[in-house]
Amino acid sequence: MSDRGYIDRVREANDIVEYIGEVLKLRRAGGDYAALCPFHDEKTPSFTVSPRKQIFYCFGCGVGGDVIAFAMRYDNLGFGAALEALAKRAGIPPERPATGAEQRAAAERQQLLEVNRLAQEAFAGWLRGGDEKALKYARHRGLEDAMIDRFGLGYAPPAWDGLMRRFATARVPLARAIEAGLVVARQGGGGYDRFRDRLTFPIREPGGGVVAFGGRTLGDDSAKYLNSPESLIFKKGETLFALDVSQNEIRRRDAVLCVEGYMDAITLHGHGFGHTVAVLGTALTRQHVRRLKRYSTNLTLLFDGDAAGLRAALRALDVTLNEGVVVTVAILPKGHDPDSLLKEQGVGGLEGCLVAALPLFEFAVRELLAQAGGSDLASRLKALRQVLPVGRSLKDAAEQRLFVDHVAAAFDLPAERVAEEMAGGAEEKGRPQPATVPAVLEAELGVLWFLSQHPESFEFLQTHRVDNDLAPGPVRDLMADLLARAAFSREILEAGLHAGDGALAGELARRVLTDFAHRPDPGASFNDWLQALRRCRLEREKNDLRERVRRAEAAGDAPAVRVELKALQSHRVASKDLPPLNWQCKKK
Ligand SMILES: [Zn+2]
Repeated sequence: MSDRGYIDRVREANDIVEYIGEVLKLRRAGGDYAALCPFHDEKTPSFTVSPRKQIFYCFGCGVGGDVIAFAMRYDNLGFGAALEALAKRAGIPPERPATGAEQRAAAERQQLLEVNRLAQEAFAGWLRGGDEKALKYARHRGLEDAMIDRFGLGYAPPAWDGLMRRFATARVPLARAIEAGLVVARQGGGGYDRFRDRLTFPIREPGGGVVAFGGRTLGDDSAKYLNSPESLIFKKGETLFALDVSQNEIRRRDAVLCVEGYMDAITLHGHGFGHTVAVLGTALTRQHVRRLKRYSTNLTLLFDGDAAGLRAALRALDVTLNEGVVVTVAILPKGHDPDSLLKEQGVGGLEGCLVAALPLFEFAVRELLAQAGGSDLASRLKALRQVLPVGRSLKDAAEQRLFVDHVAAAFDLPAERVAEEMAGGAEEKGRPQPATVPAVLEAELGVLWFLSQHPESFEFLQTHRVDNDLAPGPVRDLMADLLARAAFSREILEAGLHAGDGALAGELARRVLTDFAHRPDPGASFNDWLQALRRCRLEREKNDLRERVRRAEAAGDAPAVRVELKALQSHRVASKDLPPLNWQCKKK
């Protein structure tokens, strides 16, 4: 294919670990990275990213591919759009001949951006041109010239055809102006300006142009705020106001403050909270969260203290769960918005509010409990069941424990009861239970892992026929296969781990992430695992022999009892004579 080279260039320019690392929390697992899979619900990481192979793969749900495949799936893009986004990210100019449909969409997008650019020019000019009322309002809200410039504030005059005439002069087709949402079509042809007698706020994409406008009425319009309707270039559920001017500050602070209106966002910027963004007349969505976490995973949501604000905060639970973001909720004192709070109490007042922010689940627990009203057991259990899905969706075991403890304390219930309720619901929903893998498997996987990291231990394992010490099962089969070979083979190890549903690889990845890789002296752990496995094997054999003795006794077969007792005795002796397992790293 002629564009094969281009695709390869784009792929090579976007390191998969770096790219996925921007949206998922990657942890080193041997030579690879692991993360919780964004494509299925899981509590232990089975999502693997290989820097050497430049691919990702989830052993849980089987999704995998290269960096383009990830971008397509994660951002819900077609191949062409994903390629374009990656090329842009790497600064590679587009080269691939676009399809007809793609070309038309790109051209249309460009035209809409141009229409908005023209409108922005006009609005800004009308404000600077000295509209008394608009400037007075802006000043009243504490907006200095620098802020007006920074945010590109403008003014739409009351006339019905202010923009219409501008567009006519610039020969903008009416249909485009309507599509951009700046002009409203009249029945029977023609149109009129959507934004009239309003302070205007351009909504801009980072690194892009104006995709929409917001407008605050200065007259007596019952709609205080008005936004452009959605279009090819503007999706409310994905766009965040002020992200263009706050992105650097968000990165610098590694924190983002999210509010509900553009006026609030601008006010906060004006008081030094330069990491503020705002949603646009919509609740926070998962797409918003995914965009934000490319800049920071520490998200503070600032809501009004009224019922609507509290409801919005609770809704945020749904869209932030399992996104790997740390969400805290700050609630403004009742009757205040950021502007009034800053006016009354200054920056300190707002900072105090942010300092008092609660982790989202703590906030949810408190609110639901308050809403449940009664303190009787039935009400508390009812509220408890509402909040449990939050706990279930926490992927980290430590986080889950924290959740259970916190909820138990808040609801005045025993922690076991909370844990039980949580597990009960999980079963109903058919979710996988947290694995209670016996210690034997841990040791077996530990040995496998150590071997993969220290192939020089292969001979030692062979000499001691360590496969015999493992419990019958897939790990033992794999180890037997490996040890039967002349030399260590990584391919056999990988293939064995990934065989079937890849459960072994996921299990190993989990332990590497949470445990193995953090051991200060892996060599000592290796020996501990080997001893433990041997002890377990001897114990298994002994129990087996005892069982035989017991059965012979029960059958009243005296000669058989003698034979089995003798076998048990020999086993005891043989156990003692086994050479100690003590691998020592040979210094090269
Ligand atoms: Zn998955």
